[in-house]
Amino acid sequence: MTSEFVRFQSSPQFDNRWLRELPTDPVAENIPRSVAAAVSSIVTPRRAGNPQLVAYAREVADSLGFSEADCESEAFAQVFSGNALLEGMQPYATAYGGHQFGHWAGQLGDGRAINLGELHNAVGEHWTLQLKGAGTTPYSRGADGLAVLRSSVREFLCSEAMYHLGVPTTRALSLVLTGDRVERDMFYDGNRQWEPGAVVCRVAPSFTRFGHFQLPAARQDHELLKRLLDFTLETDFPELGEPGPDTYIRWLRQVAESTAEMVAHWMRVGFVHGVMNTDNMSVLGLTIDYGPYGWLEGYDPDWTPNTTDAEGRRYRFGAQPQVALWNLAQLANALHPLIGAVEPLQAVMEHYRHVYQRCWERDMASKLGLLDWRDETDAALVATLQQALRQSETDMTIFYRRLADFDPLWDQDTDERDSSQLIAPVAGAFYQSPGFEAEHAMADWLRRYRERLLQDRVLNGTDDVSRRALMNRTNPKYVLRNYLAQQAIDRATEGDFSEIHHLQSLLRRPYDEQPEEEARYFALRPEWARHKAGCSMLSCSS
Ligand code: AMP
Ligand code: MG
Repeated sequence: MTSEFVRFQSSPQFDNRWLRELPTDPVAENIPRSVAAAVSSIVTPRRAGNPQLVAYAREVADSLGFSEADCESEAFAQVFSGNALLEGMQPYATAYGGHQFGHWAGQLGDGRAINLGELHNAVGEHWTLQLKGAGTTPYSRGADGLAVLRSSVREFLCSEAMYHLGVPTTRALSLVLTGDRVERDMFYDGNRQWEPGAVVCRVAPSFTRFGHFQLPAARQDHELLKRLLDFTLETDFPELGEPGPDTYIRWLRQVAESTAEMVAHWMRVGFVHGVMNTDNMSVLGLTIDYGPYGWLEGYDPDWTPNTTDAEGRRYRFGAQPQVALWNLAQLANALHPLIGAVEPLQAVMEHYRHVYQRCWERDMASKLGLLDWRDETDAALVATLQQALRQSETDMTIFYRRLADFDPLWDQDTDERDSSQLIAPVAGAFYQSPGFEAEHAMADWLRRYRERLLQDRVLNGTDDVSRRALMNRTNPKYVLRNYLAQQAIDRATEGDFSEIHHLQSLLRRPYDEQPEEEARYFALRPEWARHKAGCSMLSCSS
């Protein structure tokens, strides 16, 4: 089976290095199997019955050099549903393994992701284009290789929202309905339903995962492991120098740093990935594989959106920094045969802890509008705040954003403020009106916070205007609340894509006030969404 070729107005250039330089599976048949001694298999995307473009990201198209006319052409929907190719595209799926929920799962691979090729743009960047949901590959392990509209809307909107929040992430170029139906059992309870099928085209410099290295390492194929690592160094990390054990350590150090940065950003904005398996970790430190992720509404470090993880809560919000370290240790294990010593690998793990801690301190200081982090006072200040937030079920996004409006400059001698006066600026952030104790805990915290702000003022001469500006570029006003995504999905299922477009535009400027959007989008989650499927509970079914 082959795909037809179509043309865009622009002439994108492809340079498919992964395929050209790394071993490819000699078997051409598309049947589920174990693929040894190769990192990719050539595949043909499945034909979509009636492709329809739902949305695309203008900025991503720009980086790829696609014009507006390209994006709105019939050919665009054909290419990004998997029905047609551009000259130079060579579809393939890649082999990786991974630890799922702490257990080695063996070969996983791109079961429903198909790379179309590496686009080489006018400024010399390589962007890999990857379809998610365009049919089976040798790595599909008996599943259908497809994706439904709801999960595709979630991936499309969230990856772009994360980018605009300043969180490292894969991007999304397009969201296309295939016109075909896909059968899913959303809660694994025997209730199967037909849902609209969709394909997202994801874009990243590369989609190389921790699991890509784990698979050849587990098979003791050290030659393939080394080839893949040398290739990754050459293509994604040219600044690290010639391959060799020292460079491999420097690479792991770099992966540890970018992973620490990424997770610190998640903690800053209240994002819970939901499935931090090692196959869902990018070596570029990009957030990847948007599945049952969620956004913290009421602040709760134990919260996980993933119903599959409800028991063990391995991937709960507060555990993410620790899980990333565990995942890095698995990557370090995989590299061990190429390095032959344990100490430098352990040193990288220590380095991760250190970098994460620094990132977290920097971000917490900025979230509170402090000029710098002072361990002696600020560690306790933050711990007390987190307790208070939890005690009174406080919306994380609204709280931090409103905290910028807290005015520390009253005269304590003439103006004694009571608790309710103190908490007034953040009063709109509580899901339940705080009881007497919780109100006092929050007011006490605000008094301490005031003291701390006054210290900065005295010691560093900061004014309140710059504090607010710092806070408002650290604490987003608009995030993709779980129920907002679900509302866009419900409407899209009825053929109305306007809410997807609206959220796309709202979330392009998450730190801007956008006062006209406030009433609808800077608001507490409505009560009906508290326990509704898709709004607070998500399964891996997608
Ligand atoms: P995830 O938990 O979504 O990261 O997926 C774990 C593995 O299952 C990966 O190898 C995916 O490619 C594969 N997978 C998930 N859903 C499907 C599907 N519908 N068809 C084929 N493979 C899938
Ligand atoms: Mg995955």
